[in-house]
Amino acid sequence: MPEDRANLAGPARRVLSARPSGIPGLAAVFLDRDGVLNRDLDYVHSSDRFEPVPGAAEAIAWLNAIGRKVVFVTNQAGIARGYYSEEQFVAFTRWIEDWLAARGALIEATYYCPHHPTAGTGSYLLACGCRKPQPGMIRAGLADLALDPAQCFLVGDQPTDIAAAEAAGIPGHLFDHSNLLDFVRRLVGTG
Ligand SMILES: [Zn+2]
Repeated sequence: MPEDRANLAGPARRVLSARPSGIPGLAAVFLDRDGVLNRDLDYVHSSDRFEPVPGAAEAIAWLNAIGRKVVFVTNQAGIARGYYSEEQFVAFTRWIEDWLAARGALIEATYYCPHHPTAGTGSYLLACGCRKPQPGMIRAGLADLALDPAQCFLVGDQPTDIAAAEAAGIPGHLFDHSNLLDFVRRLVGTG
């Protein structure tokens, strides 16, 4: 049964934003984090290695301005591998929220997968339903935030992001590592 398959993911891991946008409606944009918000320098988990992608904060602020909520969905196998803890990840997520808010950009939540199917210890060693290309994080976000899939899409920079989006029933768009504001404006059709 679909419900049983969904439960294989276990409870979806999320950090609800301390600064939710208050934007009404059912429309949202799901964003991968590493490679879309910040340059993917391998297991970025602290502000000293945070290098924003051009136009990233501006893209989120612009999406907010046209009534789109923004939600991050990010694989964080560095937790499973023991490179950093969930507590460190959450602290870094709060720092990102503040960094974005200072630029007029607000997000609703950050969903993360701390698992890995072959690396890690204890409960982190898991072939879960949340690690992209599985759709668990996106499905959880759609349900938790009562979003309409027909009014949502995802931007990611890996084929696994696109596969996760399609498995969750929303369009996925492969970011070309250009300017994120220009990219999302083209997607929404106003660029
Ligand atoms: Zn997972």
